[in-house]
Amino acid sequence: MMNQLYHGAHQDHRVATMDFQLNDPSLLKYQGFIDGRWLDAADTQTFAVSNPANGQHLGDVANMGAAQTGIAIEAAQAAQTAWQAESAQARSAILERWHQLVIDNQADLARIMTIEQGKPLCESMGEIAYGAAFIKWFSEEGKRVYGSTLPAAQSDRRAIAIKQPVGVVAAITPWNFPHAMITRKVAPALAVGCTVVLKPAAETPFSALALAELARRAGVPAGVFNVVPGIDAAAIGGELTRNPRVRKLTFTGSTPVGKLLMQQCAATVKRTSMELGGNAPLIIFDDADLNMAMAGVLLSKFRNSGQTCICSNRIIVQDGIYDEFVTRLAAAVAEFRFGDGLDAASTHGPLISAQAAAGIHAKVEDAVARGANVVSGGRISDLGSHFYEPTILTNVDHTMAVFREEIFGPVAPIFKFSTEEQAIAMANDTEFGLAAYFYSESIARSWRVAEALEYGMVGVNETAISSEVIPFGGIKESGQGREGSKFGLDDYLEIKYICMGGLNR
Ligand code: ADP
Repeated sequence: MMNQLYHGAHQDHRVATMDFQLNDPSLLKYQGFIDGRWLDAADTQTFAVSNPANGQHLGDVANMGAAQTGIAIEAAQAAQTAWQAESAQARSAILERWHQLVIDNQADLARIMTIEQGKPLCESMGEIAYGAAFIKWFSEEGKRVYGSTLPAAQSDRRAIAIKQPVGVVAAITPWNFPHAMITRKVAPALAVGCTVVLKPAAETPFSALALAELARRAGVPAGVFNVVPGIDAAAIGGELTRNPRVRKLTFTGSTPVGKLLMQQCAATVKRTSMELGGNAPLIIFDDADLNMAMAGVLLSKFRNSGQTCICSNRIIVQDGIYDEFVTRLAAAVAEFRFGDGLDAASTHGPLISAQAAAGIHAKVEDAVARGANVVSGGRISDLGSHFYEPTILTNVDHTMAVFREEIFGPVAPIFKFSTEEQAIAMANDTEFGLAAYFYSESIARSWRVAEALEYGMVGVNETAISSEVIPFGGIKESGQGREGSKFGLDDYLEIKYICMGGLNR
């Protein structure tokens, strides 16, 4: 764990250890945000946050626990009635202001993200724009929460279905997209009249806290959006899932933690949305446009240094073009420049931690032990323990960890297949079902394969599939629920049936 807990003496955590060189330094917050106020941890403890590119200490953040999580939930509950009673237009106007403030502060937010998360600055700029788009989208969609009138079964009655906010929402988010994973949960929740308690990842609290500060400036009322930072995820998560005032949990993270949280939510029958791990296949058929496929692989495999849940995990290439593809991929990967994300020359940043790099290396070693060939890379980088060399593996098979598990790093195992049936069977041979991609110039094959892949999202001749207008989410052990699009509102709404009777008097 990169975060270290400080016991005892109170840290002066209002002073940054490092100067982030922001246009607006007041965006950097070191406290939790509860009921519209910035607060220390009740016991004044803090945890340290560091830059994954160089290990530099960035600052100490309030380390809140179960008790303060409970207080945040109470604040959210207290704010719920008034927020829900606002018109959708009034909530929309506040979200629009929040969106504008995010855009106005895009450069600062991107800098914060690169410094605490590691991704290149241009990727951070892209994520802020992407994340902001969810706020804009849901400020608009929140005005379109339509119900239905239903044909009643009896003549003296009328039947109506209305949609209402679920109530207090708990959100738990990961470090790989420290901004967008928050906005795509919080924006729809707020838009339909829910209040939120957010626990961001301890690796990347500054992006979350800056978002809360901008929400406050936009006029989000006290208690409507609360942020509880802390490194004891089990304690905070325990309270979020146990507390009966919380009606819904929305989580993005690993499948094991998602399963645990679903179990914990069962005791109070909370609704859940789960965006969990993936094991995306990317199939390239002989009839593909190889230039297009190559660009798609480079983006989907190596973006964020391989640390996204929709990164292609298994590259599955037809035998007729296999050798050419491997040669071209190796040449393209040799052009990458890994380094500090603030350095404009860096095409790729570090991994989130040395442990992450070691875990990736263990998967590569497992593959090699089972007979894989290392075409390039295959080791921790000379740049430091947080960096892993971009790696290409051939002679790989389904027994290896790189086939079965999410790699979450810059490692591309290239599997070989002969027939379309084999490719589909290989792609579906996993308990995961988030994103899948394939490249083919045949229309008939495209429909066949798109419909046969057991995934929540399928990219045909495209790997950049995500935006605020599409339903993002998985099936099988990759989760449930959808984020973004018109469907993304449903995760925060209950359907209430109203029967109007006694009408024949
Ligand atoms: P990752 O491997 O991406 O860190 P995790 O599932 O471990 O995925 O983490 C995603 C989020 O879940 C983070 O905010 C993390 O702190 C939180 N988390 C981890 N373990 C628990 C837990 N037992 N209860 C609640 N939240 C947790």
